[in-house]
Amino acid sequence: MRVAVYPGSFDPITYGHMDVAKRALKVFDRLIILISVHPSKKAFFKPEERVDMVKEVLKDYLDNIDVYISSDLTVYEAKKLGATHMVRGLRAVTDFEYEFQLTHANRVLDEEIDSIFFMTDNKYVFLSSTTVKEVALFKGDLTKFAPPYVINKLNEKVK
Ligand code: ADP
Repeated sequence: MRVAVYPGSFDPITYGHMDVAKRALKVFDRLIILISVHPSKKAFFKPEERVDMVKEVLKDYLDNIDVYISSDLTVYEAKKLGATHMVRGLRAVTDFEYEFQLTHANRVLDEEIDSIFFMTDNKYVFLSSTTVKEVALFKGDLTKFAPPYVINKLNEKVK
């Protein structure tokens, strides 16, 4: 069984994250979405709310997807969960720089856990959770960015 973790803030999950997760499921039998809690990063949604949104919008895939909150380093979590790979998404060249550093730092921490990257459909290359939150704050149209369940949660938060 091929197992991977897909770590991220998912604050909130967008169509871009969902696209990456579905692509990863073509390669891995089990994908563990790890919601990271960074003590230094200010999040919009509580970790439990982020888990709830991920589970709801990916409910058709839950036979192969698990969703957990992570408070440890991702490589250590990956090892504990029996994963061999960490899935990440790449949008533009700007992502590359950050992911490059992260991959090599993770490799120093654990040589056996490798990183694997997927590019989204070009409809989502511009999309980030930050953009979605900014559009929500100004009551913009979010229909192309995230599923209705997530949009409702965002609208409740900014009310
Ligand atoms: P983090 O704070 O760890 O970057 P995010 O939730 O912002 O967490 O992103 C998690 C992963 O998903 C990252 O690898 C990011 O590049 C990827 N990702 C997010 N949105 C998209 C998108 N629209 N297309 C491709 N990858 C994406």
